[in-house]
Amino acid sequence: MARVFNFASGPAVLPESVLRQAQAEMLDWGGHGFSVLETSHRAAPFVVVMDETEALLRELLGVPANYRVLFMQGGGHQQFSMVPINLLGAKFHADYLLTGHWSLAAAAEARRFCSVNVVADTASSGATRVPRQVELALDAGAAYAYYCPNETIHGVEFDYVPDTGAVPLVADASSSFLSRPLEVARHGLVFACAQKNFGPAGLTAVIVRDDLIGHTSNRWPTLLDYKVYADARSLWNTPATFAVYIARLVLLWLKAQGGVAAIERLNIEKSALLYATIDGSGGFYMNRVAVPNRSRMNVPFSLRDDSLNDTFLAGAETVGLVQLKGHRSVGGMRASLYNAMPLAGVQALVAFMREFQRTHG
Ligand SMILES: *Cc1c(COP(=O)(O)O)cnc(C)c1O
Repeated sequence: MARVFNFASGPAVLPESVLRQAQAEMLDWGGHGFSVLETSHRAAPFVVVMDETEALLRELLGVPANYRVLFMQGGGHQQFSMVPINLLGAKFHADYLLTGHWSLAAAAEARRFCSVNVVADTASSGATRVPRQVELALDAGAAYAYYCPNETIHGVEFDYVPDTGAVPLVADASSSFLSRPLEVARHGLVFACAQKNFGPAGLTAVIVRDDLIGHTSNRWPTLLDYKVYADARSLWNTPATFAVYIARLVLLWLKAQGGVAAIERLNIEKSALLYATIDGSGGFYMNRVAVPNRSRMNVPFSLRDDSLNDTFLAGAETVGLVQLKGHRSVGGMRASLYNAMPLAGVQALVAFMREFQRTHG
């Protein structure tokens, strides 16, 4: 069985070299005679992995010194609760930009803890664009302002960082993390679950400004307090050790590719090729997202004739192009083009799309 081109939205494709190294080290990791799965998170070899993972993230993203990098479990969803629990302080409301499925989910969770001020809502009109800065009805008294830079399901990506003045800006960067440079200093907090672009499920990275840590009321569970992770260097309890180990290998791979700026150029090339194929199909394929807000990571597209969807997906699979089915809420197809998807994968996809149009158009 050969490796296929895997367009899954997450958990998603990982670099082949990373998988091979993990395979090679499964019985004997670094001469220890055991695998990383079989050792204490407090033992020296693993603590080194943890430290290096943080150092690599800091280096690749240029994280300023007054930000902490924390690793935890619970995925993106747990951050939907942890953000209000930790950042509300003495305030009772927060600003939310609603641009698609994931920002809507975050706002719904936040309503359990505070009142949500909807700053802009492009989700209710189909999530085909992001609001411009001038459209944002920001509240200077909000505890924080929240947005999702890349909506994984709708394929809508911000082409700018919202300016929220002195109000800390929070980003759910799960599906665009490390795909392009990130202006950390313009955010109070950025989080990303790993299973989209930098590792396996079970790990979430949180980059948070120093002064936003330590304002949690003690009625909340210990593990929902960023300060607990910050003080214990993310080793208060057992982290997802294998996920951290893989994430470190992915970050080393990314560094060897030339880092975030280099991978951004490749991501632009990959997504431009796919969008050009869609736009050049005379309406056979369609993507409804406003051009400046089209995601580089997740490209949803539909066929003019919906009844051909299953034929398209089955045909793609026979030539090794898999996991292209769109999210049930959007339908059609979705190609996720995360960092580990090579250009050759997108070239193979557009070749198949042209051939499919020739034979079914
Ligand atoms: C996948 C995803 C999530 C959900 O993450 P879980 O780890 O499944 O909780 C949240 N936000 C975005 C933008 C995502 O792509």
